[in-house]
Amino acid sequence: MQRIPSIKETHDAFLRSACESLGYDQQTYEVLLIAAREVRVELPLRRDDGSLVVYNGYRVQHHNARGPYKGGLRYHPDVNMTDVRGLACLMSLKTALVDIPLGGAKGGIDCDPGSLSERELETLTRKFVQRMHRLIGPNLDIPAPDVGTNAQVMAWIQDEYSKIYGYSPAVVTGKPVETGGSPGREEATGRDVSIVIKEYAHHCGEKLKGKTAAIQGFGNVGAHAAQFLFEMGMRVVAVNDVRGGIHDSEGLPIDKVLEHFKKAGTVAGFPGADSIDNGGLLALRCDYLVPAALGGVIHRRNAGHVQAKVVAEAADAPVTEPANQILCQRGVSVLPGILVGAGGVTVSYFEWVQNLQHFRWTLEEIEQRLHDKLVEACRAVFELAKDDKCSYRLSAYQIATRRLKESFFAAGI
Ligand code: NAD
Repeated sequence: MQRIPSIKETHDAFLRSACESLGYDQQTYEVLLIAAREVRVELPLRRDDGSLVVYNGYRVQHHNARGPYKGGLRYHPDVNMTDVRGLACLMSLKTALVDIPLGGAKGGIDCDPGSLSERELETLTRKFVQRMHRLIGPNLDIPAPDVGTNAQVMAWIQDEYSKIYGYSPAVVTGKPVETGGSPGREEATGRDVSIVIKEYAHHCGEKLKGKTAAIQGFGNVGAHAAQFLFEMGMRVVAVNDVRGGIHDSEGLPIDKVLEHFKKAGTVAGFPGADSIDNGGLLALRCDYLVPAALGGVIHRRNAGHVQAKVVAEAADAPVTEPANQILCQRGVSVLPGILVGAGGVTVSYFEWVQNLQHFRWTLEEIEQRLHDKLVEACRAVFELAKDDKCSYRLSAYQIATRRLKESFFAAGI
């Protein structure tokens, strides 16, 4: 049986196609692909039961010609240098596509945060900062939440960093509003999903009311996306998380599902809905399928089962390159993750700007600015795809890759 390509292989293949279609040579592709700096640190942790565990911490800084390195910090047992490399490059393309003055980076720790106590998580996070503090900073590299991390983790990073360098809220984004975070950051990526879907429907001349959506993953991105799509009048017919999934062809009452999730810690077992497994959710007949969990979930073996008309990639690299080809051949539109998942980093940029200037913007200002940035990016992607008769993936990658290349070469090798 063929193995599923890694996030890095998936991303490299998309970048390569963009470079080829732009007429860039092999050296230019490699310059754009390879990260400026990669770091691994050892993180020994004394567990509450007295045992000693050693974790690996990673940070890959891909590109900073457009602005400081910027990207999430992921806590997950599968975190490894190869995937972090791919995710860092993906971040450079996201920031370039929405045209914000930031570069790309990614990092993480290969731990299972669910199995750690709060004290263990805090100790591990602070140790990561003690090892990495020379490489991060408001004008150097600004981490943010990703899978398995949240505002609390960012607050610990901010605090540990500030002990060394003085009050430095701009060292991280996605922190609590109480420590300098921005209103609207937490829900930004979920909101982005709804804005891109709305713009896409507008571009196709379709109404969204009553259209159906299935969402894989009910974490920060998936739960907020479900809420916004529901509020736009769409029928969210299925959602799931790592512990199980629920389905109702009439549409789930997402406000009530959220209440159930807060109490139960999972969507599974929501009263009145049918249960559905991961494979069933990905193969549901619906208008929009929103993968909002992990990378590589739609691959060569299951892409033929997808019955959605549109796949909106909220997660990073959820569709592998062979699966992307299969979906394209079958007429399924794919809205790429560098567009659908760019809302988080866009509001992170707003948070960083507020921190640097010691200003506070209102939620309304943030939402308006996010909306304007994303609509501009959507229109550019949709128009180029129409003019060049190419996929949205290729048009988005072309726009971002060209910007990256121009800034890289303008800065000088
Ligand atoms: P999260 O940790 O808050 O949520 C992840 C969700 O996926 C959880 O509900 C988890 O139960 C679920 N999940 C994990 N494995 C699963 C499986 N096998 N089947 C079904 N569900 C599964 O993470 P998040 O912040 O919501 O990020 C989700 C994705 O979006 C990631 O790929 C991340 O890189 C990407 N992303 C996040 C942000 C952000 O601002 N948080 C921004 C851009 C992209």
